Order: sequence, then structure tokens, then C-alpha cells
Amino acid sequence: MSKTEISTNTITLANGVRMPRVGLGTWRTSEGDEVKNSVQIALSNGYRLIDTATIYGNESGIGEALKSSGVPREEIFVTTKVWNSDHGYTETKKAFDLSARKLQLDYIDHYMIHWPVHGKFIDTWKAIEDLYDAGKVRTIGVSNFLPDHLEELAASARILPMVNQVEFHPYLQSPDLIAACAEMGIVVEAWSPIMQGKVTQVPELQEIGKRYGKTPAQVSLRWIFQKNIVIIPKSIRKSRILENADIFDFELTEEETARIDALDRGQRFGPDPGNFDF
Ligand code: NDP
Repeated sequence: MSKTEISTNTITLANGVRMPRVGLGTWRTSEGDEVKNSVQIALSNGYRLIDTATIYGNESGIGEALKSSGVPREEIFVTTKVWNSDHGYTETKKAFDLSARKLQLDYIDHYMIHWPVHGKFIDTWKAIEDLYDAGKVRTIGVSNFLPDHLEELAASARILPMVNQVEFHPYLQSPDLIAACAEMGIVVEAWSPIMQGKVTQVPELQEIGKRYGKTPAQVSLRWIFQKNIVIIPKSIRKSRILENADIFDFELTEEETARIDALDRGQRFGPDPGNFDF
């Protein structure tokens, strides 16, 4: 695998800041040694984007791993998210400060609204815009926003979200949402990009992978990468952290891309952002 390729592959967000196109997910990675190890392995193998959230409960371990990594701060791009119970102007600012303290960071690279909590996300966004103006966060975005949520936010926002992190993989391709983000200049970031491990069972991905000596996970990640969508596969295992980054030495053809496009069946592995109650 080429360390250079993963660390230098970036996408430019609306304010000119460059965000890595491949990162490490950390949902269900435990606080302490587990998260420290996986972040350390990732950073020493070229990963520069680390995705976490208040609700994952692992920001302290990530902070320790970042500090001990020896990688210059300016090369690292850390994303965290305000949780649903912390919505509101004052609460969001408090939640941000707590995350920054746990991560041991003076500034955070990307701060997101985790879920579009109805009736609350407008005030939350105002706080995030103010954190951005104050230089405490370099880029700002949302997660799990459907086109309606984006429109509602855009109607009062001073600054549009720069990223929308949503569930995206071969079985859930949400073409309307992807088109809405493109129209608004919002970069899409895919969560569960390997379907929480289930891509290994998809015959089309197995078959295409065999042509290149690649695994179904690598085919799924490459397919998303070729759509200019950011990917943040999660693993706590060194072999898979390396495998998931080793996607730069092959290119899917139009025919292969179309075959994977045809797998869309609107199937979610996570909650529906249009109907959630947490
Ligand atoms: P992924 O699609 O990244 O799959 C992770 C699972 O697949 C883990 O069980 C992992 O196990 C396994 N796995 C990892 N690599 C491979 C591989 N190469 N082959 C087979 N299995 C593999 O799912 P996630 O839901 O974790 O999504 C990625 C990240 O997106 C999250 O970690 C989180 O940071 C973010 N996210 C954001 C959400 C949001 O609401 N904004 C919601 C959900 C996720 P193991 O660790 O044992 O290797």
C-alpha cells in the first residue's frame, strides 16, 4: 500500500480547506487502548482523517493517540459531532468545548450536527457558525440531513454546511440526496461504506474484486471514492485498517461501476433520518 496516496488524497471544501478523502471511523471502538491502538495504526500508515462523535465516548483516547503520534497537528483532520441531547445554542458551545478538551485540541478541523433533531438544529447551527467565526473550528457540516433538512437549514444559515455525512454504500445510494448536496456545493461523506462488514457477502463485489486481486471491502470503498465521496471505514484490526486504505492501485471501469450502481435497493443498516426518535 502507498502511504503517500492516502495522506495526500484530499477534496477541497467550500471554504478552500482540504479534507482527506479516506479516513478512519471509530463508532463502536471502545475508549482507552482499543481506540488509541486503532488511531495509532491508522496515523502511522498514512491516514490523516479521524472521525469520532461525542456519543461514541472515545474522544479522550483519540486525543492521547493524536498527541503521541508524532504527526504534525496541521496534517491531521479530526471530525467530531454534537449529540442530540446537546442541541441548542448554549448547549452546543458547551459540548464543543468539552469535545475539544477531551481531544486535547485548540481547534477542531470539522464539527457536525450528528442528527437533524427537529425544531432544534437551527439554533445549534448558529452556535456552530459562531464557533467557525471564532476560529475554533476550520470547517463545519451536518450528518444525516435529507434534502428537506438541508433546505430548512439553508433558509436561515449564514454559512452552508460544507459536508453532509450520510449512510452510503452499494445497497443505499440515495440519488436525490447526492444530487441535492452537489447542487449546494456540499461534499458527501459516506458512513458504513462497507455495510458494517456485510459487503463481503455481495457476489458482484466478490467477482469484481477477483479481477484486481482486491477484497469486496476494497471494491466498495473504491467505488465510493470514484464518486468523489469521502469514506471513513471503521476497523480496530491492523490488517483491515491497511486493507481499507489500499485502494489506490486499481480503477473500476464504467461497466463495473454501473454494475455496482445497479445494486441500490434503498436498504439502510442504520436509522432513517426522516423518522428517528432519539
Ligand atoms: P463500516 O461500514 O465502516 O464497517 C465497520 C465494520 O466492518 C466493523 O464491524 C469492522 O470490524 C468490519 N470491517 C472493517 N473492515 C473490514 C474489511 N476490510 N472486511 C470486512 N469487515 C471489515 O461501518 P460503520 O458503521 O462503523 O461506519 C464507518 C464510520 O462512519 C463509523 O465508524 C463512524 O465513524 C461513522 N458513522 C457515522 C454515523 C453518523 O450517524 N454520522 C453512523 C454510523 C457510522 P472490525 O473493527 O472488527 O475490523
